[in-house]
Amino acid sequence: MVVLPRFLYIFQSIPICIPQLYFKKLDSIISSFIWAGKVPRISKKHLFKDKMNGGLSLPNFKLYYLAAHLNIFSFWRGCIPGIDLTEQPSWLLIEHLSCQRSCLPALLNSPTKIKNTVYKKNPIIQNSLKVWNQFLLLTRAPKMYLDTPICDNHAFFLDSVLAVKSYTKVAISTYYKVLLGVSSPSSHLFRVQWQEELGIEITEERWQDCIKNIYNSSINARHVLIQFRVVHRLHLSPSKMNKIYSNVSYLCAKCLNDPGTLSHVFLQCQKLQVFWDSI
Ligand SMILES: [Zn+2]
Repeated sequence: MVVLPRFLYIFQSIPICIPQLYFKKLDSIISSFIWAGKVPRISKKHLFKDKMNGGLSLPNFKLYYLAAHLNIFSFWRGCIPGIDLTEQPSWLLIEHLSCQRSCLPALLNSPTKIKNTVYKKNPIIQNSLKVWNQFLLLTRAPKMYLDTPICDNHAFFLDSVLAVKSYTKVAISTYYKVLLGVSSPSSHLFRVQWQEELGIEITEERWQDCIKNIYNSSINARHVLIQFRVVHRLHLSPSKMNKIYSNVSYLCAKCLNDPGTLSHVFLQCQKLQVFWDSI
């Protein structure tokens, strides 16, 4: 998407706390474009998922915004007292010198609310801490305490997140993938619905094949989209249309004999048997 680098540039260059309302408005504009102003048929969280996990890799701007800030926090994390900052960016030195009787990594790990006098009321640090709290809320990360154990501690997953080298080109995309993994919904519901309709058990391994085959099935983008809609049950079958509009027939439009469920219109209809037998 061409607009993503423009947003990323702003997210990285202007360290401000953007209100949640802004991202909601942005999402509603994009959603309105995708669904042509109609009611969305699937949660946008499924569209945000990457292609190998059955999504459409639609950019989640809020997560990119958080990922850009995680890159800043990665710099903060290495800014321990006594470290030589001559090779570090100048903005880091300014923020480091703003801390009184504290340091930037300590601000990140504070289990209690921090008084703004600790960092000389530096508005940049104040905004960054607000974004850090948004990240903690999203990941439901627990607060750290002085007596927290080092071994066998689920809270230390943050270490692996922030261990990415902040100066590398792939840092933000790596953070984005981690955040996407935390916030992406499961496609288990669609699997259950297909199992109930087909009357068979779909193993996890087979379902994952279905998800991966959405993009492996064709190099044609239009065909891939059709496959996405089939797996996510987005097509309006005659049965589904009949539940919305009672004047629409629930029968299959081809054979006019059986209920037009998704499994029937795509697989079981007698009019399709010649086609399926030839494959
Ligand atoms: Zn039929």
